[in-house]
Amino acid sequence: MKKLTLQNVLRMISGFLAFFLTIGFAISCCMMLFLNVLADTMNLTFTATNIAAAAKITLVNVLLIAVIFTLVDHIRRKISVDRPVKIITDATEKFMKGDFSVRISPMQGAGSEGFNQIIIAINSMAQELSGIETLRTDFVSNVSHEMKTPLSVMQNYGTLLQGAELSQEKRIEYAKGVTDASRRMADMMTNILKLNRLENQQIFPKMEVFDLGEQLCECLLQYESVWEKANIEIETDIAEDVKVKADAELLSLVWNNLFSNAFKFTEAGGTVSVSLAATSHHAIVKVRDTGCGMTPEIGAHIFEKFYQGDTSHSTQGNGLGLALVKRVVDIMQGEINVESTVGKGTTFTVKIEKV
Ligand code: ADP
Repeated sequence: MKKLTLQNVLRMISGFLAFFLTIGFAISCCMMLFLNVLADTMNLTFTATNIAAAAKITLVNVLLIAVIFTLVDHIRRKISVDRPVKIITDATEKFMKGDFSVRISPMQGAGSEGFNQIIIAINSMAQELSGIETLRTDFVSNVSHEMKTPLSVMQNYGTLLQGAELSQEKRIEYAKGVTDASRRMADMMTNILKLNRLENQQIFPKMEVFDLGEQLCECLLQYESVWEKANIEIETDIAEDVKVKADAELLSLVWNNLFSNAFKFTEAGGTVSVSLAATSHHAIVKVRDTGCGMTPEIGAHIFEKFYQGDTSHSTQGNGLGLALVKRVVDIMQGEINVESTVGKGTTFTVKIEKV
């Protein structure tokens, strides 16, 4: 609502005067034309008294018309401009206070198309902002939650290490506990930073042509001690000479995460297979395991940050691995799919363009 300040009153009066003078000028011109034509055709002569009387009546008429029109215009403006503007500014004030749940209903009536376009834009902006806000608060609570576990583990081991009569064996065990928990926290921070940089496009992919089969073998070999210790069988079927143009370092993140998950979720005696095949335009990598598998409900969320479907392995990860994988595959303009059956195993398929 406009406040009744001196400035607003002066503006209203000047608006009225401008309207009055315009109408007065238009009507005077019409009257003069009409009277001139009438006087010429009917041979009439107007006296000064006639003209003064006509001028007074015309002035009153013009005043009346100007007042009526100004009032009608004022009411029209109140309904079709001031009211929607107030509704929109009220809503944006609520956004400024952090309430993104507000939505503005579309206006009805003639002349509301322009406002409705603004309303649609504001509503979708609010929708976006509320999504970002939820992500931000979820992210903060997830990070805090994920940090709490290793921190309390470190605290507990730290307290135990203070025990006076501690055997050498126990001392080493507790110290290892502290080291493991701190490594887990450091890994999580590294992943968060990587993901953040990838999402904010602070990492510019260094595209180079390289042999994908070689890269897969190199990455897989890093897990040799893992599969030997866990007694997991390895199968490979790697096509030769499949070249891709991609950021090798980023792509190795994808294979490392897929391999470490495959070994993590596969019981002793199981099998992990890695295959690389080429179609006319694409390289297709499959990482298959005969592990615990996952339900379709879990499968639908695995690429979300901090999502962990199988909580029995939660201490060995932080739910960021596949979020990173998905981001990298998207940056490389590739595709990633997962097929999984509970109790039977999981297959991740990554498709990227080859050169
Ligand atoms: P993390 O492994 O740290 O929990 P990820 O983002 O790598 O996080 O994986 C998210 C979730 O996806 C896992 O918690 C698990 O439930 C599921 N998942 C990923 N890979 C596999 C797999 N090979 N077999 C079964 N479940 C898997």
